[in-house]
Amino acid sequence: RSGDRSDGRGGAAAEGNGAGPAPMLRIDDATVRLGGRPVLDAVGLSVAEHEIVCVLGPSGSGKSTLLRAVAGLQPLDAGRVLLEGRDLEGVPAHRRGVGLMFQDHQLFPQRDVGGNVAFGLRVRGADRERQAARVGELLDLVGLPGSGRRAVASLSGGEQQRVALARALAPRPRLLMLDEPLGQLDRSLRERLVVELRELFGELGTTVLAVTHDQGEAFALADRVVVMREGRIAQSGSPLDVWQRPADAFVARFLGFEN
Ligand code: ADP
Ligand code: MG
Repeated sequence: RSGDRSDGRGGAAAEGNGAGPAPMLRIDDATVRLGGRPVLDAVGLSVAEHEIVCVLGPSGSGKSTLLRAVAGLQPLDAGRVLLEGRDLEGVPAHRRGVGLMFQDHQLFPQRDVGGNVAFGLRVRGADRERQAARVGELLDLVGLPGSGRRAVASLSGGEQQRVALARALAPRPRLLMLDEPLGQLDRSLRERLVVELRELFGELGTTVLAVTHDQGEAFALADRVVVMREGRIAQSGSPLDVWQRPADAFVARFLGFEN
C-alpha cells in the first residue's frame, strides 16, 4: 500500500513531482450548496490506487454528500472530480466505474442471494454461465460460499452486509465507495468484518473511499483517515498521525480526547 498522501488543494504539486501516474481519484475544490449553505466547501482530496481512505466526521459534516458527488448522484456547484485523470463532469453514475454501497444496503428481497449479487452483472449484459461463475467467486470472496440459492430473508444482518458488498464488487469497480457499510451491525461483528474487509481489499487491490462515524472502524480499516467538519477537511493523515497529532481542538474533541 502506498501509505500517506497529501491532499489535492495544491494541484499537481501535491501529487509529488508530477511524473507519477494520476491518482485513482482526485477531487478538486468540490463545492455543493444545499438549502443556501455549502454542504461541501472547496474540498480537495486525492486517493491513490490501492489506497483505503476512511472519511470520519460528525453527522451532517458532508461525508455522504462527498461520496454522492463522486458517484455522480450529486452535482457539484464548483470544482471537479477526476477518476484516473479523467474528468467525470457529465458522466452519468452508471458509467463512472465506481461502486457505491450504502448503509441501508437494500438487497432485493424477492431475489435470492445469487440474484442479488448478479444484479450488477446482469444489467451489463453478461451471459448466464459467466454470471454464475462470477457470483460463485464473489460469494467465496465475502465468506458465503455456496449461498447463491439462499433467500435474503434467511440471512443475518452480517450476511446481508456481505451480500451487499459482493453485489457492489461484482462489476469490478475501479473505486469502491462505502457509506457506513457496517452501520447496522453490532460492535463485535463489525470489528471482525472490518479486519476481513481490509484483508479482502488488500487481496483484490481495491481502491476504497469509505465513510463512517465510528473511529474504531476507520482506524482499523484505513491507510489514511480524513476528518470532516462542516463541509471541509479538518485533517488528513495516517491513522497513527491523526491519533497522535490531532490538527486542532475540533479533531481532538471528535476523537474523544477532551471528554
Ligand atoms: P453526513 O453524511 O456527514 O452525515 P451529509 O452529507 O448527509 O452529512 O449532509 C451534510 C449536510 O447537508 C447536512 O446538514 C444535511 O442536513 C444537508 N443536506 C443533505 N441533503 C440536503 C438537501 N437535499 N437539502 C438541504 N440540505 C441537505
Ligand atoms: Mg451520511
